[in-house]
Amino acid sequence: MSGAKVTLPFGRVALIGMGLIGSSLARVLKRKGLAGAIAGCARSEATRAKAMELGLAESMHEDPADAAAEADLVVVCTPLGTYEDIARAVAPKLKTGAIVSDVGSVKQAVIRDLGPFVPEGVHLVPAHPVAGTEHSGPEAGFAELFEDRWCILTPPPGTDTGAVEAVAAMWRACGSTIEIMDPAHHDKVLAITSHLPHVIAYTIVGTATDLEESVRAEVIKFSAGGFRDFTRIAGSDPVMWRDIFLNNREAVLEMLQRFSEDLTALQRAIRWGEGEVLESWFRRTREIRRGVIEAHQAGTFDAREPEKTGAAEPAPEKAGPPRA
Ligand code: NAP
Repeated sequence: MSGAKVTLPFGRVALIGMGLIGSSLARVLKRKGLAGAIAGCARSEATRAKAMELGLAESMHEDPADAAAEADLVVVCTPLGTYEDIARAVAPKLKTGAIVSDVGSVKQAVIRDLGPFVPEGVHLVPAHPVAGTEHSGPEAGFAELFEDRWCILTPPPGTDTGAVEAVAAMWRACGSTIEIMDPAHHDKVLAITSHLPHVIAYTIVGTATDLEESVRAEVIKFSAGGFRDFTRIAGSDPVMWRDIFLNNREAVLEMLQRFSEDLTALQRAIRWGEGEVLESWFRRTREIRRGVIEAHQAGTFDAREPEKTGAAEPAPEKAGPPRA
């Protein structure tokens, strides 16, 4: 279906959720003049007050329906488990021609949870900016977060092309490159690139925690080895990651099955002293790492302690994943 002509800036943009992703989007929308006004929504009074103090929105609301009323674009930026209730709440307030989008890390579940509530004449354009840091909350966001990152759009078949182009134009203006993908394919790709690494990190850190007391002390003490990277990933927001695994179950289980087969093969090579198998395996993976660097998707990793670089450490319960 052909659609309305794209015209940036949007008039009123509602951001439901003002954490790392919602507040980063608010910052870039403001910096680039992509929205006439931003109406934000957060659960807690503390986040609403902080967002106003930081100048992230013209108004902050407790009820998502109040933020969404009269909005030209509504972007859901909350954990996946909240989507259905938010969709139910905002649906009666959506104006004809409005666009509903999101930033969730899983896409089939988003279409399942938002789709049935989107009224006739309103366009659903799910999106996933593949960008993030290990920090969470409104203070963690920054306008450059989406620069040189991918933003994957998964519009259901028949979606208004003008609405898709409007969302794509917004993300391009944020510095991202757009990829349009089938939602099932998105969920498979992200299962291997993002979700599986988190399962492994959660497992490894959990296993270390279960070790007897004497060994556990050493695990923390000498964690500057490979273990440190796992603790950073395993420090990611528990609610957000609970929801990702609950909502991408099939794809994650499929990747885990493949992973455990490969793990068994490596285990066997170690057991039988097959050095050439190990070496050629590790050479192959090193090539992958080089490819990531060449594609400018490696980010940075500063081995110095945060207090020596001036970087803020996230509160443990607010620590988010590097990229979801
Ligand atoms: P976050 O920093 O923890 O922020 C979540 C925000 O949602 C907070 O403002 C929170 O309000 C609000 N919220 C939670 N439940 C709500 C509800 N029922 N009604 C209204 N507001 C609610 O999370 P985030 O890292 O920005 O992640 C948000 C979404 O982005 C998730 O779906 C995630 O899958 C996706 N994503 C994350 C990353 C990443 O690296 N973090 C990357 C790409 C995509 P309070 O502060 O008041 O609790």
